[in-house]
This record gives sequence, structure tokens and C-alpha cells, in this order.
Amino acid sequence: MIPSPFALGAALITSIVAVQYAHAADSLQKTLAQPARAINGIAPTTRSHWMRRANQALADVLGTPCPFAAFGTAIVNHTGNGLGDLICIGANGNSRTGNPTFHGEMAAIQNCTSILTDPQGPYNLTAAESLSAFAQLSLYTNAESCPMCAAAIRWAGFKEYVYGSSVDRLVEQGWAQIRISSMDVFRQSFDLPSTTRLIGEVLTNETDPYFLWQYDPEYRCPSTCVRRDGVCSKAH
Ligand SMILES: [Zn+2]
Repeated sequence: MIPSPFALGAALITSIVAVQYAHAADSLQKTLAQPARAINGIAPTTRSHWMRRANQALADVLGTPCPFAAFGTAIVNHTGNGLGDLICIGANGNSRTGNPTFHGEMAAIQNCTSILTDPQGPYNLTAAESLSAFAQLSLYTNAESCPMCAAAIRWAGFKEYVYGSSVDRLVEQGWAQIRISSMDVFRQSFDLPSTTRLIGEVLTNETDPYFLWQYDPEYRCPSTCVRRDGVCSKAH
């Protein structure tokens, strides 16, 4: 169903709790990820539901649950009741599109913008209304964003940014990453008028397996995938 607050524009945008981070200490991350905490009134089971949806975006967008760049995103409106409403999904489309900036989060933000502003779609927002709408939305990504995407999330002014596997986890598994944490990006974005709540390392027992096989030939492939020539691919 259409979230009616969108139509009302910025007037109904709730103020967001600013979160100050002193340092990107691992212990602080884990404090934020306490699984029993209902941050912003959202139950942990609901967080898990949407993180699974971010994982599912891989198969939905790319046709396989085991793409090498297994970065999936779901963008959700939690302003209503229940689980919330899915606005759009996205998955890393670098190899599919040839666009090196088309990370899962960027793809999802682009998809949501198209959906929110589609004159034939369910929202039919103006550009200004679309820009304002992001302040009511939560972005779920199965891995912590690179600094480009973390910056895009802050520019968008999302209400919440929820990630699964951390950049530290990816780096220790062999992934090449730009080693600037989302916390660092958020800490330096204090000039922006919006604030975004960061909730890290959600459902990592389910997000990690999407990223642990690429550089470990012994690691099992994600469900429904098998190794061929060392690389996981869809079984059928
Ligand atoms: Zn990125």
C-alpha cells in the first residue's frame, strides 16, 4: 500500500535520532548489533526479514544467488505498521552494465528514484518529494557499504542504514576494499542537514556465506550453487 506520508512531503518527515560515533571500534559495532534490541521500534525479526530480502535481491536481479560480487540491497518504508513496505531492490550490476559505480546500493537508490517518481507508478512523486521521501526509508544491504555508497546513503538522507557483513570481515576474507568504514563516512558528514541511524552486522550468519567462497576454494557454495572451475555458479 502507498505510504500516505510521502504525499505530504517534508512536513511529516520525522526527526531522526542523531547517533554520534567516537571511533570505529569493533566493540562499538557489536554493541549496535545487539540482536535483541528493537532499534527505532523495529523488531529484530523484522530486521532479519529485510536482510534476507537483500540477499534475495541477488537472485531476483541477477538470476543467481551466487554472483561473484554478491552485494544485494532492499529499501524499505517502516513508517506503516507490520513488516514495512518494500519500495525497491538492487544488486551489484558492474559486470552486467559495464558501469563501475553500479554497486548494489547505488542500483537500489536509482531503482527507488525511478519507482517513486514514475507518473504511472504507485507514488507519482515530484522530484522534490522524492528527495524528501528518502528520509523515511531504511536501506538494508547484505554487506557494509564502500565509502562511495556510504556517502550516497548520507546524501540521500536515509532514515536508517542497516548492513550485514562488515567491511572488516570482507577484507579478512580476501576482498579488495577501500578501507574507510561507514562510521568514518558518517562521522565526517556532519555538515549535512539529515542524519541516518547506522545499524551494523545484522544477520551475519546468513549474509557472510555469500562472501566467504570467492577467495576460499574450500568454502561451500551458497544454497543451490555448485563449484565449477573453482567458481560457484547456479546449479541449474
Ligand atoms: Zn559501494
